[in-house]
Amino acid sequence: MEERRCIVAIGAHAADMEFTAGATLLKHVRSGWEAHIIHLTLGEKGNPRLSPEEYGAQKRQEAEEAAAILKVTPHFLPYKDGELSVRDEIAFPLATLLRQLQPQVIITHWKESIHDDHIATHYLTRRAVFVAANAHFVLEGLPPLRGVRLYYAENWEDAQNFSPFVYVDITDVFAEWQRAFKCFAIGRGEGGFPYWDWYQARTRLRGIEIGVFYAQAFAVDEWRMRQRRELL
Ligand SMILES: [Zn+2]
Repeated sequence: MEERRCIVAIGAHAADMEFTAGATLLKHVRSGWEAHIIHLTLGEKGNPRLSPEEYGAQKRQEAEEAAAILKVTPHFLPYKDGELSVRDEIAFPLATLLRQLQPQVIITHWKESIHDDHIATHYLTRRAVFVAANAHFVLEGLPPLRGVRLYYAENWEDAQNFSPFVYVDITDVFAEWQRAFKCFAIGRGEGGFPYWDWYQARTRLRGIEIGVFYAQAFAVDEWRMRQRRELL
């Protein structure tokens, strides 16, 4: 029997993981993986003209439409935009959800960011993975995670000291990713910041760096770059 394979992306706000890793998730789905996006918040305070209730409902609908195109299962956690911090009140429910999903790969934010919610999400994810992987933490009788590989996505807000290490060729899913991206009003340029231009240009640049057309790039913890060789 073929082993079940699962990839999970954990974002601070709806749109973060669709923009930075959506194409990579769809690539995994095409290779037989199950894919999920966990939204810690909707990013509901991001629109100066709409109330958080109105914009939160819009972001949720946009994320559901994007998820259908990317063939991922979205999970909306009940935390508030701009109010994330590293606390076990969030890390333990996240660890419980990770034990339910049992991913082999997790993607989240890089640790340096201009947005404090993104920094919190980075450390919340690390804390949740630590708790979920240690069998001595009892979480609803669920089995611990084993051998999870953690990757950090390339986000325009998290660019400080971001150093890509692993590149995924997304050329063959680029059109679907673009459609999912444009499910979001901010992805269509309606928020003022030219998100699509940045991500389209960045994925093209990363593609050039590895000799393909488009690529999404990911950082890893420094210790994971160590390679054991007999000869150079
Ligand atoms: Zn964000």
